[in-house]
Amino acid sequence: MPKPNPQKGKKPSRSQPDSPPARLRQIPSVEELLNRPSIQALTDKAGRKFVTARVRVALARVRQQILDAQGGAVPEPSAPVLESEILRATEAALAYSLQPVVNATGVILHTNLGRAPLAREALEHAAEIAGQYCNLEFDLAKGARGQRDVHVSGALEELLGAEAALVVNNNAAAVLIALNTLAEGGEVIVSRGELIEIGGSFRIPEIMQKSGAILREVGTTNRTRISDYQNAVSDQTRLLLRVHPSNFRIIGFTEKPSLREMVELGQRTGVPILEDLGSGCLVSLNSPGSLGSIGSLGILGEAPARESLEAGASLVSFSGDKLLGGPQAGILAGNKELVERIRRNPLFRALRVDKLTYAVLETTLQAYLQQQYHRVPTLRMIYMTAAEVESRARSVMEACTQRGKTSLQMELTDGESVIGGGSAPGSSLPTRLLSLHHATLSAATLESRLLAWRPPIVARVETDRVLIDLRTVLPEQEDVLAAALRFLASRSTAPSRAPTAPAS
Ligand SMILES: *Cc1c(COP(=O)(O)O)cnc(C)c1O
Repeated sequence: MPKPNPQKGKKPSRSQPDSPPARLRQIPSVEELLNRPSIQALTDKAGRKFVTARVRVALARVRQQILDAQGGAVPEPSAPVLESEILRATEAALAYSLQPVVNATGVILHTNLGRAPLAREALEHAAEIAGQYCNLEFDLAKGARGQRDVHVSGALEELLGAEAALVVNNNAAAVLIALNTLAEGGEVIVSRGELIEIGGSFRIPEIMQKSGAILREVGTTNRTRISDYQNAVSDQTRLLLRVHPSNFRIIGFTEKPSLREMVELGQRTGVPILEDLGSGCLVSLNSPGSLGSIGSLGILGEAPARESLEAGASLVSFSGDKLLGGPQAGILAGNKELVERIRRNPLFRALRVDKLTYAVLETTLQAYLQQQYHRVPTLRMIYMTAAEVESRARSVMEACTQRGKTSLQMELTDGESVIGGGSAPGSSLPTRLLSLHHATLSAATLESRLLAWRPPIVARVETDRVLIDLRTVLPEQEDVLAAALRFLASRSTAPSRAPTAPAS
């Protein structure tokens, strides 16, 4: 029992049922709320501790509201209101934070949207491997400890024409461990035109510093000659680094030595060359693949990683989830002795990848080995012609056509899809876009309505239009997209929160 408050000899506030002290007394107890049937059902599902935490948050909020209601209307703590708040908060806390989205941006390798979507077969292999014990580091022939790298190194060596290959967490890690292994305490020569920053704070000078290597910049932003490299070579030089400019391009008065020139310098001075290819694709995207010729698209001019090795680069590094279309990973390949040194670096233990990554990467590499490029979703999207994109856009449009008034005007326009992921600067693919214009909603509002859909739909906005590029929408997501557009077409003022689309 609370002690009587000696300072308060005044009239008890009890007489006013809506006074703050009275309202505070009306707040239900934790126990009372937990005993309500709907909350009890939730407790059975999510556990008492989990739900109690949400109950306490709701109670604290209502208590604060009452205390804050200085002079104004004092809210009544209602158990049903608290109950629904608790139900909502618990459901929200139970939902996954990571959720699928529909990428209608036309940016194929969208770093913010998880880069390469993976093939079902790759996920099935990963599920099979990860749901059981596996031979990750176990040599079944010898019945003894083995190396985790063997699961993909053979395929990588074959595809790249490399003596050896190694996989780490991502390309940033690949560059870091290569610099640390080969150049710690010594100098690495890089052109000023290649001192790049890739989004998400990967900056060559900073990675260099963390690796313990000393950056020796040469040339200028737009022009660097082989003589600049040559003049910088000293007995301190450990490595020549070449970096793919990835997400930008310097045009105009520019010059950079060819890889061959650098290889020749490297051979003369005994300094190895590391080429950070960024996206480094395994096939020439300009040559005919098993899906037919895409040469006509004139994309990229992205040299396959093996060409760099053939030209004499000692090592190449690239991402697994850019043009390769696999899992997040960093691949290092090239000279056997250098790869072995990197493997022995204790950092390898810190940067290694897990069985899930090996499983997905192995599946992806199998598709390349068999030249069945259509098995790689990223390549499928790249190979898709504008006519194919258009026919998919048309079928979505048809699925949205409805009798009577429509608030959503839809038309097809020419546009460009972007490969993205810092893969090939400025490389774009001709596409056909669904251009949306709503009778009463601005393009920005339309965009946010699409984002509020479940699953969220990420589109592009250009001036007063919302643009949908079917190239990056997975075929199984077309229904969701059509449902959202149908919903928006049916209202003149759509509510801010669209209902959840029926599961498809
Ligand atoms: C993308 C990129 C990186 C970083 O690769 P992650 O796999 O994202 O770590 C490094 N260098 C270049 C040139 C890149 O394009």
